[in-house]
Amino acid sequence: MYPKIEVHLDHIRENAGIVVKLCGEKGIEVMGVTKGVCAIPDIVKAMLDGGVKKLGDSRLLNISAIREAGFNVPIYLIRIPMISEIPELVDLADGSLNSEVSVIKAISEEANARGKTHRVILMVDVGDLREGVMPEDVLDTVGEIIDLPGIELEGIGTNMGCYGGVLPTYENTKLLVEITDEIEKVYGIKMNTISGGSTATLKLMSEDSLARGVNQLRIGEGILLGTDSTNDEAIAYLSQDTMVLKTEVIEVKVKPSVPIGKIGKDSFGNVPVFKDRGLRKRAIVALGKQDCRIEGLIPKQEGIEILGASSDHMLLDVTETGDVKVGDIIDFSMSYSAMLSLMTSKYVEVSLDRPQV
Ligand SMILES: *Cc1c(COP(=O)(O)O)cnc(C)c1O
Repeated sequence: MYPKIEVHLDHIRENAGIVVKLCGEKGIEVMGVTKGVCAIPDIVKAMLDGGVKKLGDSRLLNISAIREAGFNVPIYLIRIPMISEIPELVDLADGSLNSEVSVIKAISEEANARGKTHRVILMVDVGDLREGVMPEDVLDTVGEIIDLPGIELEGIGTNMGCYGGVLPTYENTKLLVEITDEIEKVYGIKMNTISGGSTATLKLMSEDSLARGVNQLRIGEGILLGTDSTNDEAIAYLSQDTMVLKTEVIEVKVKPSVPIGKIGKDSFGNVPVFKDRGLRKRAIVALGKQDCRIEGLIPKQEGIEILGASSDHMLLDVTETGDVKVGDIIDFSMSYSAMLSLMTSKYVEVSLDRPQV
């Protein structure tokens, strides 16, 4: 069945192994982040086989699937929890990233009632302006949660390169370490984890510019795709051959490059603009915006150009490609955002057809 993502589990396992080894040499543990592949158990297993010993996911539904598959490693919810999901959170996850005292208090009540301890990593916003307590408020916040029953304040963390696109630097990772030192001094406690970011922070680490003291990174994209979209690069020491999208051609015709008739809005509400390139050979593949963030696809074969898509049809210019016919399969590699959308679509088959060795 097409469209289909073919997953190369062996390469994901190898990527995980390399990331775990490089981080390990610097005293950094890897939390393997599984949300990009909706925590498909075989892919989770490839990460664990590569040496990952702790998992993180943004959705409890995914964490539940990981539990059901029987993986017995610590799992963290890495989106700050909704109050409404706290019973399931305490049930399924060992810990979570947090930024709201009211939520941590609610977790405390639930955990305490069940005789459990829930680990909290307090998120600090060092500038990306997504989740996290502002640096000047961290000490007060710690004071409010430190003695809550059922809560273990495991450490602090930060997220970068997501909303504001802020890049990890020595300065902003150093800030985390300084805040940790201050918390330890003021409250006389030990913070076990300083979680210094995601795939984007690997670059800093390999350049030896990550502040000493950071001892955890939360890695999804690097392991799953071998890319680092925040720094806009392929990671040289990782494989990018981890997944390929396969689509089937349903029409091939030579057509003008400018539509014929008065132009209104397209099916997504935009007024399209076209450049007249004369007659072009076009192929339609059975994939659309309902399945995939099309902008994140890259044709594997040289010469193919993606013209655009509607909900169920993607249009390709194949003029330069030679012989393309109906029924042919056209391959694409994908960005993180395209992978995320494809994995989430129930219309896309995931094929794990390279057995692990
Ligand atoms: C998604 C996510 C990660 C993983 O990011 P990658 O870029 O895939 O490595 C880490 N931390 C948080 C909080 C996330 O939401």
